[in-house]
Amino acid sequence: MEKNFDFKTAEAQIYKKWLDTDAFRANVNPNKKPYTIILPPPNITARLHIGHGFCFTIPDIITRFKRMQGFEALYLPGTDHAAVATEAKVTEELRKQGIEKSSLTREQFMKHIEAWYKTYSEQIIGQLKRMGLACDWSRFAFTMDEHSTRAVKEVFKRLHEKGLIYRGERMINFCPGCKSALSDAEVEYKTENRTMYHVCYPAADESVLRKKYAEPFLKQNTSVGIGIVVATVRPETIPGDVAVAVNPKDKRYAKLIGTMVINPLTGTQIPVIADDYVDMKFGTGALKITPAHDFADYDIGLRHNLKPIVVADLDAAARTRAIETLRKNGTLVSEKKYTGNVGVCYRCFQPVEPTISKQWFVAMKELAKPAIEALNNGLAIVPKKFEKIYLHWLNNIRDWCISRQILSGHRVPVDGETDTLDTWFSSALWPFCTLGWPDDTPDFRYFYPTQTMVTAYEIIFFWVIRMVFSGIEFTGKLPFERVLFHGLVRDGQGRKMSKSLGNGIDPIQVIDEFGVDAFRFSIIVGTKLDRDPRYSIEKATLARNFINKIWNATKFYLNMPKGDTELRPADKWLLTKLNGIIKSTTRRYEKFDFGVAANDLQRFFWHDFCDWYIEESKHTRNAAVFGHVLTTFLRLISPIMPFVTEQIYCTELGLGGTLLTAEFPKEDKKNNYPKEAKQFEAHIAQVIQSRNAKEQAENAAKQIVHLEKEIARCKNMLANPGFVKNAPKNLQDLEKQKLKEYTEALWKLKN
Ligand SMILES: [Zn+2]
Repeated sequence: MEKNFDFKTAEAQIYKKWLDTDAFRANVNPNKKPYTIILPPPNITARLHIGHGFCFTIPDIITRFKRMQGFEALYLPGTDHAAVATEAKVTEELRKQGIEKSSLTREQFMKHIEAWYKTYSEQIIGQLKRMGLACDWSRFAFTMDEHSTRAVKEVFKRLHEKGLIYRGERMINFCPGCKSALSDAEVEYKTENRTMYHVCYPAADESVLRKKYAEPFLKQNTSVGIGIVVATVRPETIPGDVAVAVNPKDKRYAKLIGTMVINPLTGTQIPVIADDYVDMKFGTGALKITPAHDFADYDIGLRHNLKPIVVADLDAAARTRAIETLRKNGTLVSEKKYTGNVGVCYRCFQPVEPTISKQWFVAMKELAKPAIEALNNGLAIVPKKFEKIYLHWLNNIRDWCISRQILSGHRVPVDGETDTLDTWFSSALWPFCTLGWPDDTPDFRYFYPTQTMVTAYEIIFFWVIRMVFSGIEFTGKLPFERVLFHGLVRDGQGRKMSKSLGNGIDPIQVIDEFGVDAFRFSIIVGTKLDRDPRYSIEKATLARNFINKIWNATKFYLNMPKGDTELRPADKWLLTKLNGIIKSTTRRYEKFDFGVAANDLQRFFWHDFCDWYIEESKHTRNAAVFGHVLTTFLRLISPIMPFVTEQIYCTELGLGGTLLTAEFPKEDKKNNYPKEAKQFEAHIAQVIQSRNAKEQAENAAKQIVHLEKEIARCKNMLANPGFVKNAPKNLQDLEKQKLKEYTEALWKLKN
């Protein structure tokens, strides 16, 4: 056996062995129950980061565990074309080469996109394989491949025929950076310091207003007279105002409802309307209504039959012009600093512009209903706390804007249409289109619905709810039995990993330096599914030490003389412990509690097996028990550390085959010895106690030597006539005090 586990050579050999023997391949097998997991397809825009490493390892552990339990386990890999992100990257690449996207025809540009798909797809498959993933590569799928394209067209057609896809002028989020419509889910919010402008909308008939209403806050004495004051952070949208709205319960404004005010920028007369939406406590309690440029105003406009007015210019220059005009005509009452939320594009972070535009939409109300009910119809969300977010999104869902004004992605399958579809329109079909749908194939019937979907909680609304309603709508079944949400990997200090902080960790680099097993173990150990795990390189070092420990224990075993079969107390204790760890690991794995399982397995091996049993068996040497515990342990931990376990089990111990299909250990009730185990535990406790006592005695002896030296020093000093004659009194007192304390301490230690 080599001195250490040579992971570089072994990993490549073992992975090749698995590929050559089609070990990851899952087939329709009526004698077995299927267990299907679809890999959440990574975007083909960049190298995989540590978050992917974490996310993809979890389903890999599940698949390996389930296969050992006798399931026909399938882990299906794929990639996502990520239309917006890819298009941005390719455009940037071309610009570096001096080529502007606008100078290319659609066909020319798409050639570059396709070249990108090819390069990055290969790179990402390479990285997934380096992570040791047990994926069935024969089923690799891409959201832009022929089959996925057919599924997308079929879904579009069916929804269109049902009237659930429509084209219409609606309020959408427009990203000026991406120059495309976005869905609600693609808008993120960040707080920003802005200026709140208070603007007076003068009453059209001032004399009436003056006579009827005396409330002082209504009467803003501006040079144009009296009117209603509204607060706005976007004065450039005033030309699009079609009304001023107040709450019907607001006594301050009750008598104004139905009168007209003047738009301070255009001079047109607009009505004062009443709507429950208006918050009496916010600002002045009066709201300008701009249906063409605000989602809430759009809805209010619909309720009151107000025709939206689109404002052509909404840029910074338009804002400056608006403010100047308002100042000049005296309607700008005040300007105040204000901190509020701004919606930004989740890809390019530019503030999005709510705009009325002609787009394709999916009507969501009807589709959302069964997805809401799914929580009572078998869909499990793990951890349960995410149910709230899931329901919140579905209960507040608006129609889904699916058209994008970019070139890459699936074309909207309608004659003459140049828009493409939202990337998530194809990802929503992933759990069933990857298994053959829309065709009714044996694969589809056997492997669908899938069992578990593992993904980050941050894409619950982009992806998870859309897979659920799509699955129900097109297959009549939930796409998965449960969705497992995991946290986001943070650095050792708990910070988000980011380019600007430079604290990102490349999983492939960790794997190159420490091996796949060390990477997998270190990213899993100690994690809780609903928390954000912390990761640092030190964890990989600790994992490597653990692997060395397993390797050395194996060497020890191979050198043991075989033949002694007497079951001594230590053997019985260890066999009982082994049953305990088999039971707890199985239970933890079943609950997807891999972090704790990894911890417990490490403690069992390091503490119980190495520290206590191996110490003991140096004298007793029951190789049969040793070998049994070692091989059982290797099978237990192999889903988490598949390579070193395979190397030891199949090659070093010469057992052949593969751990992939070895049976997952089961408790052996014959080997429970509670009485002996208890006695041995007592023995361990005694050893620990006497070790501690010995340590204490040693410390005491050292202390005695030290005190005796100090006492002698004090006595010498106090006996020195020069010291007694010349030293200040406080110094002499201090030495006397020390002598007293040391003498007492010594007496205590000796008695
Ligand atoms: Zn953008």
